[in-house]
Amino acid sequence: MKRAVYPGSFDPVTYGHLDVIRRSAELVDELIVGVLQNNHKNPLFSLEERVKILLEATKDMKNVRVASFDGLSIDFVRRNKAQFLVRGLRAITDFDYELQMAQTNRVLAPDVDTVFLTTSLEYAYLSSSTVKEVALYGGDISKFVPPVVADAIRRKLQKA
Ligand code: ADP
Repeated sequence: MKRAVYPGSFDPVTYGHLDVIRRSAELVDELIVGVLQNNHKNPLFSLEERVKILLEATKDMKNVRVASFDGLSIDFVRRNKAQFLVRGLRAITDFDYELQMAQTNRVLAPDVDTVFLTTSLEYAYLSSSTVKEVALYGGDISKFVPPVVADAIRRKLQKA
């Protein structure tokens, strides 16, 4: 059984993430999207909300599971008996940090390989923080996130 984990904050999930999820799910028998608790980043959505949104956004993808975790991604990978850790690369600016993480994880868990998928060009500029920024100032985010996410952001900002 080939299994991969795609860890991230997903605050919230964008079409860029979904593109990586769809493409990496084709490479393995099971893909687990790991939603990181990550208290440092002061997320807009709670862990439960991020998981719920991801479940909805991936409901048509049969071999994709969504789970939350806290702590090190590599420990979550191991707990799930996955052989691969998936990350997305948008631009050279992602590369330094991602390479360092991959090399650190390789030392911590030599049996796990980090697999990088380069973003589809149409999503190369896209990040959760840009989407939140555009939404905050009333911009149209329908090209960046699926309707379930756009609705959730709208509701969240109305409450704030
Ligand atoms: P983290 O806090 O771990 O960076 P993110 O949710 O921001 O979590 O991103 C998770 C992963 O998805 C990272 O590897 C990031 O580079 C990748 N990613 C984010 N946006 C995109 C995108 N538009 N296209 C491809 N990969 C992306």
